Amino acid sequence: MDVQRKLAILADAAKYDASCASSGTEKRDSRDGKGLGSTAPGMGICHSYAPDGRCISLLKVLLTNACAYDCLYCVNRASSNVPRARFTVGEVVQLTLDFYRRNYIEGLFLSSGIIRSADYTMEQIVEVARRLREDHQFRGYIHLKTIPEADDALIAKAGRYADRLSINIEMPEETSLAQLAPEKNVRAIRRTMGRLRLKLDEATEAKKAPTRTKPPRFAPAGQSTQMIVGADAATDQTILNTSANLYGSYNLKRVYYSAFSPIPDSSRALPLQAPPLVREHRLYQADWLMRFYGFEAGEIIDPAAGMLSLEMDPKLAWALRHRERFPLDVNRASREELLRVPGFGRKAVDRIIDTRRHSAIRSTDLAKLHIPRNKALPFIVLPDHRPPAYQLDGARLAERFRPKAQQLGFGF
Ligand code: SF4
Repeated sequence: MDVQRKLAILADAAKYDASCASSGTEKRDSRDGKGLGSTAPGMGICHSYAPDGRCISLLKVLLTNACAYDCLYCVNRASSNVPRARFTVGEVVQLTLDFYRRNYIEGLFLSSGIIRSADYTMEQIVEVARRLREDHQFRGYIHLKTIPEADDALIAKAGRYADRLSINIEMPEETSLAQLAPEKNVRAIRRTMGRLRLKLDEATEAKKAPTRTKPPRFAPAGQSTQMIVGADAATDQTILNTSANLYGSYNLKRVYYSAFSPIPDSSRALPLQAPPLVREHRLYQADWLMRFYGFEAGEIIDPAAGMLSLEMDPKLAWALRHRERFPLDVNRASREELLRVPGFGRKAVDRIIDTRRHSAIRSTDLAKLHIPRNKALPFIVLPDHRPPAYQLDGARLAERFRPKAQQLGFGF
């Protein structure tokens, strides 16, 4: 099979993995004339290589989609009836270099099905990164998917070469993982995440220590994970609880949410339909609220529903359930309170706090702060604006934010 055909199969097989943002790594470049490539920290690029040839920032491929495991939700499982392919280590290295030189990509996202054993697979993945870094002085971004059952020494080696390491937790609940991916072991996944955290903490400490020698590098962009949404019956509340636990216990940079897509010849244990894509989007918004807006996992979702509203964003839904906390005086409220106002982003809040030291914020300033007036005005007080009590308390306020009902078509 030629490399082009392998690429079509293995890039397509990798598309279900959502965890490939390339933000947060250290700054590196080759302007000194040595090496090849650079990283652009903080750009938040996230990307893959589509089989139709379009370039998308990261070359996102599997080493092989011929997997020895049989996770029911995965198109690459051993019992799946899909064309199989396997790259050699040299082929992935060459593809990465070729694509980089042609400016198609800024880095590599490499994952793999299990070949023979966890250790053998991890050895191959690490060898790709080693050759890129040591033999070709590649300085672009490398994200390696880690096999949790692999030997500790291999994972330590992976961290030397990769910018980011990730281990997929896959299911929000242990029981679902046992049912849908019987060969995977949630304890091994968590143990490896714990070890990665220790190594990442050690690397951070070593960087701070006053020494002339450069400390050994270990995955400067940290670790991340991915959860599949909608393959089991877990509620959004369960998913957020699991994410909060993962962020707290392993200091993850990101949890990615990937809406389950029905796969050919799938098991009866799986749903026939994909969850609405907007559910994935709402989970990302809720995740953002936990990480940057001071919300706890347990307060974002209406406890009676257990699910995020698909009709409106989670912060707006929270504010409508907690109207007793509004209206809020923008010129007096604390930063924590302002962050909970619908339509107020973090940057806007920082600018409000900065500006109000010199002059009061008025309704005409909202546009300059990029705050949507319609969303924010019912919840705030300004020198030239106070929402009438009947508006904030009335049932019509929630209606105002619901998407307009649409006449269904007849399908012809
Ligand atoms: S280990 Fe499971 S999820 Fe990963 S490629 Fe194999 S079958 Fe798919």
